[in-house]
Formats: sequence, structure tokens, C-alpha cells
Amino acid sequence: MELLLASGNAKKLRELRELIEELGITILTPGDLGGLAQTVEDRPDFAGNAAKKASEAALATGMWTLADDSGLEVDALDGAPGVLSARFAGQHGDDAANNRLLLEKLHGLPTEQRGARFICALALARPDGTLAAEIEGSARGLILEEPRGSGDFGYDPLFLFTEPGHAASGKSFASLTPLEKTAVSHRGRALRKLASLLPTLVTAIT
Ligand code: IMP
Repeated sequence: MELLLASGNAKKLRELRELIEELGITILTPGDLGGLAQTVEDRPDFAGNAAKKASEAALATGMWTLADDSGLEVDALDGAPGVLSARFAGQHGDDAANNRLLLEKLHGLPTEQRGARFICALALARPDGTLAAEIEGSARGLILEEPRGSGDFGYDPLFLFTEPGHAASGKSFASLTPLEKTAVSHRGRALRKLASLLPTLVTAIT
């Protein structure tokens, strides 16, 4: 079974690819197909952007396509950076600048006002661009006052996972191994929900 993963972000692709290939599905990326037109991510929420990316790529390629949109919502910033997470400080994907700006905006706030959550929306589109599934996963935490851990993806060094009852509780996402992060992350949770739907979807995809 082949599935197009409509993402150009190498770090996210790695996380998604590992999880999906475990399910016996072969992943193709836009690069394998000679590139794809970039979707304009102009929807107000993660689910809308994921759906738009999946539908446009499916229609362009005639393939079953999975797309994701994800980001960070900070309580004290009324949900910002939200859908602008990748370009919070202006330039798309400048993680260091985004993290600096986040620390500036939360400067002086006590721990109890630093709550945040990561969200991942997944959309699976059929070859004709219609949607077969829309899924969301989230992970709750707080924003640290300085980076912690050596993982280097996005806001991971500033995000302390606070949900109780997990091995990862009380650790920053950047301190976790890929497996430990996936066990509790917004992306891992969304993908496991997708996996539970796959037995039904597989017949349609093959
Ligand atoms: P997207 O490529 O539009 O989905 O942008 C997602 C942005 O949200 C990334 O550039 C990161 O800044 C942030 N983000 C999403 N997921 C994670 C994560 O697991 N860890 C850290 N940052 C993340």
C-alpha cells in the first residue's frame, strides 16, 4: 500500500514516516514525485490547513494523501502562535527566532500562567481530493523559562510535558528520545488514532 505524505518538513516527515511505516504502508514524499506545488496555509485552524494540503496534493497526484498541520497554542497568548507557529517571528521555519520571541512574550510570567498545548491535525484525502478522515491529537504542558534538552525541533526545548502518569511527565520534549516523544506527543496520538481507523480504510486504499 502506498500513501503520499504531503509534507516538506524533514523533521516532521521523519516522525510521521517512522510511525506510518510500522503499519506496513509505503510512504512517498513530494520529493519522490518531483515536487508538488506549495499549498497556501490560509485557514484559521490546524484542521482546515491539513484538509486543504491533503486535498490539493491528492488531486494533483491521484494518490491517497496524508497531510498534517501542527503547532503550539499558548494560554497566556490567547492560543498564539497557533497556525502561525512556523513563522511566529517572521521567517518560516526559523526555530531559534521563534523560540526567542516566545520567551520574550512570556517574560516574567509565573509557572502557573505558562500553560500551553501542542496540536496536530491529520487529514487523509482520497485520490479525488475528498476527505476520508480528519483526526486531531494534543499534548499538554508549559513553556519553560529557558531551553532544556538537546532535541532541536521547533519549540521542543521550551515545552515541558506536564500530563501526569507518563514516563515523559515533567520532561521537556527536547529531552526525550524519538520513541519517548512519540508515546505522548500530539503527532503520535493523532497517528495512533489514524492507525486504529486503518483496518477500515485499508480496503479502500489498496
Ligand atoms: P507546520 O509545518 O505549518 O505544521 O508548522 C508546524 C510548526 O509548529 C513547526 O515549525 C514548529 O515550530 C511547531 N511544531 C509542531 N510540532 C512540533 C513539535 O512536535 N515540536 C516542536 N515544535 C512543533
